[in-house]
Formats: sequence, structure tokens, C-alpha cells
Amino acid sequence: MIDPREFHRRAKEYAREKNKHYYFMALKSDAIIDATQQGNVSRFINHSCDPNAETQKWTVNGDLRVGFFARKSFRAGDEVTFDYQFQRYGKEAQRCYCESTNCRGWIGEDPDKEDKGRDKREKRDREKRKSRTIFRFVK
Ligand SMILES: [Zn+2]
Repeated sequence: MIDPREFHRRAKEYAREKNKHYYFMALKSDAIIDATQQGNVSRFINHSCDPNAETQKWTVNGDLRVGFFARKSFRAGDEVTFDYQFQRYGKEAQRCYCESTNCRGWIGEDPDKEDKGRDKREKRDREKRKSRTIFRFVK
């Protein structure tokens, strides 16, 4: 678990090292998980715009934890996916290839929409979300 300052430092460091994969997830504004160096198998779960799982924040014995929970039933062997609710950090938008019928086309915000700016309500709604992945992609 790292704070925003360490997150920015590591994001720059990983970019310098030309890391292709980032495993950052924000639990709250000042608590970010970095699973780049180590983490369990859940760090490899891919994004989908129509996911079969979701993240939930739990406090376990005073520690903040993130868990993955099914949103709908799926069979053994099916790929587990969740919505990254991606906030971009860096200039390149990530195309989404999830192939769901409601695919937004981008992981996170559409770059065209983003350029027009966001109103305060939208920003506040985003803050309320349970947990977010701020910078995570798998090519
Ligand atoms: Zn998609």
C-alpha cells in the first residue's frame, strides 16, 4: 500500500524502465495498491465493460482489503473480469477489446470526452466509487 506521492514516483520509475504492465489500484485517494513487483493472481484479471466480477473494499481486523466478488453466475473455466473504472495517468488512452455488446471502446474515459472537461458532479461521483484502478492495462 502506497500513498499518492509514492505512486507518482513509481509510475515515473516504471515508465522509465519501459514496463508494459502496471498493477496500480486505488482503494481510496491516499491508499494505492502497487502489485507490480508482487501480488496474488488477481492482479492478472482483465478488464471488461460487461464484467462478471466486481471489487469490494473490506476492512479486515482494521486493515483495508480489496476482494473480488461475482456479479453474476459463471462457470468453472470462464474468464473472470471486472470493470477497471480506469483513470488514466499518462497520455495514451487504452483501447478496449472486451467484445461485450456494451463495450465503451476505451478502458476508462473516451479520450474525446475527456478533452471537453468534466463537471464537478461527475468528478464527485467518481470519488464515491468503491475502488478504482487508476493505471492498469494488459496489452
Ligand atoms: Zn470493452
